[in-house]
Amino acid sequence: MNLEVKLKEVFGYEKFRAGQKQIIEQVLSNHDTLGILPTGAGKSICYQLPAVIQSGITLVISPLISLMKDQVDQLNITGIPATFINSTLNEQESKERMQQVLQGHIKILFVAPERFELETFNHFVKSLPLDLIAIDEAHCISQWGHDFRPSYLTFAHHLRSLPTQPTVLALTATATPQVTSDIQTLLSISANHTVKTGFLRENLHFEVVKGIEKRSFLKKYLHAQEALSAGIIYASTRKEVDEVYTWLNNQNFPAVRYHAGLSESERQHNQEQFLFDEIPLMVATNAFGMGINKPNVRFVIHYGMPATIESYYQEAGRAGRDGLEADAILLYSPNDLRIRNFLIEQGDGDEQHKEQAYEKLRQMQAYTHSETCLQRYILQYFGDEGENCGKCTNCLDDREQLDITVDAQKVLSCVIRMGERFGKTMVAQVLVGSKNKNLTKWNFEQLSTFGIMKQHSQKNVGELIDFLVAEGYLQVTPGKFPLLFVSTEGHQVLRGHLNVFRRAPFVTVAQNETGD
Ligand code: ADP
Repeated sequence: MNLEVKLKEVFGYEKFRAGQKQIIEQVLSNHDTLGILPTGAGKSICYQLPAVIQSGITLVISPLISLMKDQVDQLNITGIPATFINSTLNEQESKERMQQVLQGHIKILFVAPERFELETFNHFVKSLPLDLIAIDEAHCISQWGHDFRPSYLTFAHHLRSLPTQPTVLALTATATPQVTSDIQTLLSISANHTVKTGFLRENLHFEVVKGIEKRSFLKKYLHAQEALSAGIIYASTRKEVDEVYTWLNNQNFPAVRYHAGLSESERQHNQEQFLFDEIPLMVATNAFGMGINKPNVRFVIHYGMPATIESYYQEAGRAGRDGLEADAILLYSPNDLRIRNFLIEQGDGDEQHKEQAYEKLRQMQAYTHSETCLQRYILQYFGDEGENCGKCTNCLDDREQLDITVDAQKVLSCVIRMGERFGKTMVAQVLVGSKNKNLTKWNFEQLSTFGIMKQHSQKNVGELIDFLVAEGYLQVTPGKFPLLFVSTEGHQVLRGHLNVFRRAPFVTVAQNETGD
């Protein structure tokens, strides 16, 4: 069968995008497959086309209940009979839909993974002629993912007990090497049948902005546009969304807002105003955006730092889905870190879960301190190598690179002398020779590195430590109070085998800010 002809016939598209054809061919040859494609790459086609070609039913597992209706409506318009069964239906409606499916009227059925906790549903699924089970947002199955859902594990368990052996297609946009291997193990998908396309988004211009007043930045940025283009501003909390939203409107920048504290109808209304270009700006928490396909978003600004690189890339990736140039800007202030730490501390989950969350947050924070290409930093996080993008703030930074090897050696050697058992604040205090009583307790004033950087402020030494962590010379233990230790590269620096370069000038101040 000519798949291109079928693609054109059913969806009207001229050709496949990267990864799609390989995934579809594997699925049609009954190979369980994992597809890792960036947001907007066109993952849906990978199960929709096989669903049309095959004679039986395709079951789609998705956590996004609120989107199922739209997805189903869209498919029905395309001429593919689809339906969903989820908690928004009453028992009678669910029964009717099951009946419809059993009678063979449906090609694609959407359900949430929680459905498998119901015995009646399991019984029903066992009686279906299933060709394919597509698992959307498959990273939810991994405890290492940024959005772990235990119901995905329940589902995986039931998957094995199905009498027919449907092909399994797991799809995700965000998978670190660890999450990838988890999905492969839990769903028994071989590495040979994992299809991953480049995560590079060539049209995105990444920017990290530090040390600014966030509102002034926004005002300047929005004023610089001739006509206000569509953009999303992500804030960390509902309260912050409300504040930024009110402020923008007061400044005559038309904005709508979206967060879980608003009523369903208000959320829906605001979302539509944004999607249909009636209002250019959307201020939202991370509750907004999953499954949203608005091609002409010209910028995504993060007003606060997200919790993980996964969520950052997913959210920032909503800019420029039409392939035209777009900005992904992160406004960073140290206070963001406090908010995030607080949210982890207050959140659900056991200690192990929290430890992972802190580790992910640390990697997110390192992004803001890194001086390497921002796009490349993200790609490496997802296990991809890549070239420098040539357009992010770090690539465009033409400040001279200073050799700061000696300063780096002072920090690294201090970390070792302190037994690699302390965090950033204590190390910085020792380096600047702080009079803080804590240090006396440990006899740190006896160390040869005590006060070795006393011409610098504790804040600047702290930033240098952040930089050394971001660039991998120092590492930290997971957890709320990360302890510093020296990496293999750091040891090479100490031995004089590797030089460290840094752009930001390391400012000397006369007065030390000790004691904080
Ligand atoms: P994802 O789930 O990967 O974020 P979607 O499946 O929602 O992406 O697809 C994003 C958009 O791209 C949709 O509007 C879809 O119709 C479109 N699309 C998918 N495949 C193709 C293709 N081969 N050619 C053109 N457009 C496509």
